Amino acid sequence: MTGRIVFFSTTRRWAARAFMPMPLAGLVVLIAPFVPVANIVPATLGALALSGMALSLAIAGRGAWLDRALGGPDKAFAWHRAAGYAAVAGLVGHWLLASSVGAGPIPPLADAGELAGLGAGVGIVVLSTISALRLVPHHWWRASHWLMGPLFAVSVFHTFLSAGPLPAFSPPWLVLLAVSGIGSWGWIASLRKVSRAEVPAHVTRIERRDGAIEFEVAADITTPRYRPGQFAALIVPGLSDEPHPFSIAGGSGARRQFGIRVAGDWTARLHREMRVGDMVTLGAPQGRFTPRLDSARKAQIWVAGGAGITPFLAALETMQPDDAAPITLIYVYRGAPGAIGLDRLHRQSARLPQLKLVLHDSACEGRITGLVLDAVMTALPRRCDLYMCGPEALKDMARAAYRRAEKAGRVRHEDFDFRAAWSLADLAAGVRRIALLFIGPAAAVGRAAPPAFKRLHAATGLSTLIPVRVAP
Ligand SMILES: Cc1cc2nc3c(=O)[nH]c(=O)nc-3n(C[C@H](O)[C@H](O)[C@H](O)COP(=O)(O)OP(=O)(O)OC[C@H]3O[C@@H](n4cnc5c(N)ncnc54)[C@H](O)[C@@H]3O)c2cc1C
Repeated sequence: MTGRIVFFSTTRRWAARAFMPMPLAGLVVLIAPFVPVANIVPATLGALALSGMALSLAIAGRGAWLDRALGGPDKAFAWHRAAGYAAVAGLVGHWLLASSVGAGPIPPLADAGELAGLGAGVGIVVLSTISALRLVPHHWWRASHWLMGPLFAVSVFHTFLSAGPLPAFSPPWLVLLAVSGIGSWGWIASLRKVSRAEVPAHVTRIERRDGAIEFEVAADITTPRYRPGQFAALIVPGLSDEPHPFSIAGGSGARRQFGIRVAGDWTARLHREMRVGDMVTLGAPQGRFTPRLDSARKAQIWVAGGAGITPFLAALETMQPDDAAPITLIYVYRGAPGAIGLDRLHRQSARLPQLKLVLHDSACEGRITGLVLDAVMTALPRRCDLYMCGPEALKDMARAAYRRAEKAGRVRHEDFDFRAAWSLADLAAGVRRIALLFIGPAAAVGRAAPPAFKRLHAATGLSTLIPVRVAP
């Protein structure tokens, strides 16, 4: 049975991949009739690079409607990244294969157009590498990433003024003009978003934990209502003026609660230096990770790891006791002294008969395995929605257990890392996965495999078919 589930999920994934070349095929169909045969491939790759960048910028400058359409800001960021990587692939191919054709639409500017293409190409590859690898601090990455807009403008100059094969005013030329307009609009819209109004607030309560902090802020002026599962950007002027996103962990009226795990420099300083009375700035609520909470809901399983408990804390706070479909919350944390919201969860569990709490302290019980998740999922009704927030490896395990238990329903997850950059450890794990494809599972679970990979393999036996990303 397990083999059948894995076969179908793998087939679905391959079917999804099979659709990925379709935009490329569309560009070939658009461009091929208008350029010499030898230029079809380089011209198509150039068009892919420009369109990918335009789409990426349009998503960056998106309004709330596009977030809604794509399933939330974290999903929008995933599309933004995918479009960006497609652009880089197109750019590199175009760079390797393209050569000048004719004298260009304005011959005195053709050389400048070529040079612009080279400069933009180098700049985009460098910025994309900085983006993809977690080598520089987040605020440096953000600052560098804003340069993508000007580089797009330079790429547009290259597209229309270098000596290329596309005839002016031909259908593909006009499409690329529209694409350039969309990308420019996205860039301008993304710059305007930065200065969106925020609400001043001050800290009213703090609880410090081992490697985590829980606190409440009260807004000084009317603050927009939020839905459980949404997040807000926090600026703490005493630390820096960089906004950091955090799920709202509860609170009503002017009050908002947060639970924050120390993940780097900024959160470490917050943990050390935040005091009651400090001023903060609260961004507008965003996001769509909202489980159905009324009594018409289906059975649900919530899987939270570490700070990933915060959206569920807000959800539980708004629930009324009922005897409708049950909610099973699996909370995996490392050590009770550092666990966010543990006491609140116990209170909610006593108040809400529909809530079944499964606590897993990995400091005492070891890392959670697929077998534990299997045991919990098997006991739940077949129609059951899955909501997950926490480390990637935990979410992958939960997804796999949900599939093995043959559940049917919505599967939703929240990502706490919009950038999804690769650390050097992730890169090493990626190389091992590629090795696995060639050398076979035995090599991948051998001595060189990362511990999370070995555990997953031991627990499920399916890790060759489940994408594994080792949590940082
Ligand atoms: C929608 C969302 C909700 C989140 N909710 C919570 C929560 O409830 N509790 C919690 O502990 N953490 C939450 N996070 C994660 C939190 O934003 C980061 O851990 C924090 O910003 C790290 O800052 P740092 O400088 O201390 O760490 P760093 O070492 O600089 O970074 C650690 C990680 O956080 C990311 N990050 C750093 N700075 C920013 C920033 N300004 N904006 C976005 N990402 C950044 C980095 O890309 C890196 O992956 C959430 C993230 C997102 C995207």
